[in-house]
Amino acid sequence: MSSRLHFSLRIDSEATQPAVQDADLGRRSSLAIGALLEEVGGRGSFVCIPSEVKANADAYRDLASRGHEIGLHVHPADLGYEEFLGIYGPDEQRAILAESTDAFTQVMGDRPTNICLGYGSCNDYTRPILVELGYGHGMTQIPGRVLPECASVAAGAPTEPHYAHPWNRVLSGNLDFVELPPTTDPDSRMWGGKHPQDLRIELVDAKNHYYTILKAVKRQLDADAPINVVMAFTHNLFPYHEPYDFRRETLLGVIEHTKRLADDHGLELVFSTEQQIAAAYRAAVPLPAERISLDLDRRGHGS
Ligand SMILES: [Zn+2]
Repeated sequence: MSSRLHFSLRIDSEATQPAVQDADLGRRSSLAIGALLEEVGGRGSFVCIPSEVKANADAYRDLASRGHEIGLHVHPADLGYEEFLGIYGPDEQRAILAESTDAFTQVMGDRPTNICLGYGSCNDYTRPILVELGYGHGMTQIPGRVLPECASVAAGAPTEPHYAHPWNRVLSGNLDFVELPPTTDPDSRMWGGKHPQDLRIELVDAKNHYYTILKAVKRQLDADAPINVVMAFTHNLFPYHEPYDFRRETLLGVIEHTKRLADDHGLELVFSTEQQIAAAYRAAVPLPAERISLDLDRRGHGS
């Protein structure tokens, strides 16, 4: 049993997307989030659409030099494709993802290893392509989400970090890609039942998030999870640089609640990037050598 509780914050950095087009907001917001995390001894995982790193290259290079993780965020519309990756077949996905990766790498120098798919839009072709392109961890979907209108359906998918299955998005498997789902409360449904409440900072207030964190910590301790995580996320579309911004206060509240819950459960709180969480998972769980079998539950078949 792990005696640690990892806390990470992913920042979907996309203020340059067509609907927002405010690179200055994105820059100020991302830098403020980075500074806020540094104040508590943490570092963030900024996942950026290519136009965001292009517009604010110096800011993300600066954040990277201070230990923050910079990965790729995919919104195909940013490159002129349709909005949702999950409608595409394998060849088209490979082309879109390779183009996004190249655009990112041209600015940042290093190829990204963390990828986050916008809307969690994907299909069963997606994950082996990510590994082909050099990705080792990230978020491809939100477990429990049922949004076919965004090609984003992950009902029944594992809620905690796991190795992805090469061909089935709701199973864990033996693909060398650590899926890092955001923390969710599967019992609390939102958006007409289509979406589980998740640890998206701007979604609700800190008190409301407390219950999601509490349930997630208990769920992992009860299951004797190989690593314990609280995985929050936000967007750089809010003025985190303003001292009394609601999202800023909520993030500070979420961090305080996580600290208290770690104490209450005798766990050591460790601020981590997603890369560090993926490394901790790999250290705790060897990659299965073979396909994982599913056993038919025969208890109802009589003896
Ligand atoms: Zn996004």
